[in-house]
Order: sequence, then C-alpha cells, then structure tokens
Amino acid sequence: MRYNVAQLLKEQSGHTRQYSLHEDISHLDPEIVPLSALDGDIQLIRSADGVFVLGELHASLELTCARCLVQFALPLKFSLEEEFRPTIDIHTGATLPVTADDEAATRIDAHHEIDLSEVVRQDILLAIPPRPICRTKCAGLCPTCGKNWNAGPCDCKTDEIDPRLEKLKELLDEKEKPQ
Ligand SMILES: [Zn+2]
Ligand SMILES: [Zn+2]
Repeated sequence: MRYNVAQLLKEQSGHTRQYSLHEDISHLDPEIVPLSALDGDIQLIRSADGVFVLGELHASLELTCARCLVQFALPLKFSLEEEFRPTIDIHTGATLPVTADDEAATRIDAHHEIDLSEVVRQDILLAIPPRPICRTKCAGLCPTCGKNWNAGPCDCKTDEIDPRLEKLKELLDEKEKPQ
C-alpha cells in the first residue's frame, strides 16, 4: 500500500491524485482474517503541510460470533482520513524536524513514499465490532448442553428451577444478609 508522492509534493495545495486500491491484507494483523482483498478508492490531496489521504475501502472478514461461536463473514466498510507529513523537504532535500504529534504511521519517508498499511490496520481493528454477532437474532448456545439454538431447541429445561435448589438458594441468601 505504498504511494510515491514526490510529484504531488511539488504541486500546489489542492492538487489531487486518484487511485483504486486492491490489496491482499492477509498478513496485516493476526486478528484480521480476510475473506477477500481490500478494495476501494484512494484520493491523495496536496495540503499545506503534506498530503491528505481520503479513502473509501471495503473487505470481507471472517469473525467468530460472540453468541454462538460460529465463524461468519462480515462485510466491512470504512473511511480513511489521514494527513501524512514529509520528513524531507521536497525542494531542498533538507531533513525536516519531527514534531510531537507526528505519528510514525503518517510520515512520508525519505523516498517521498507514504505507506497506508499501518493506518489501514488501525482503522480495520477499530471498525470490527467488539462483540460481533452472526445475525441480529442469533439465539446463541444453550448454557447447559452447548447446543447451537440457531439449529433448533435442545432438550434442556432451562426455565424451570428444581424446587430443592430453590429452597437452598433461599437459605444461602438468608445467610449472606448483613446483620
Ligand atoms: Zn451467532
Ligand atoms: Zn440445552
């Protein structure tokens, strides 16, 4: 995901390059399991301080459902919006000072190249839901026998409580009450 922006850096603010992106992301991060390539459109815009990157990207990822633990495909769409700053002055070749808020991931390197991999990696990890669900009405697993309720009900009687256990529970609750 590298782009040479030497020519763009010599141009005035507002000048733009368009690229279509098609990248294999299977080695981007151990937590990212792609089922497709990463696809989309990238716009590089010369800004006052560097190069602004805008992108609309999508990929299909394999995730594990937090309820039923079955793997499923999640189509993921996200936008890229980052400003990359040069480390070398394009006109003089002089090394530019690195400021505190310059992240390594958004530096234009000494060869005037930007590398989108790290910002893409971060954006994908942010776009993945923390508790991915295979479908909105995923029924999950039976806590007793472990059967996947999406495939039908099991034989466990989950809503009935054994009356003897109920009595025991009352006694325990009584014991725990503060004096
Ligand atoms: Zn599920
Ligand atoms: Zn069950």
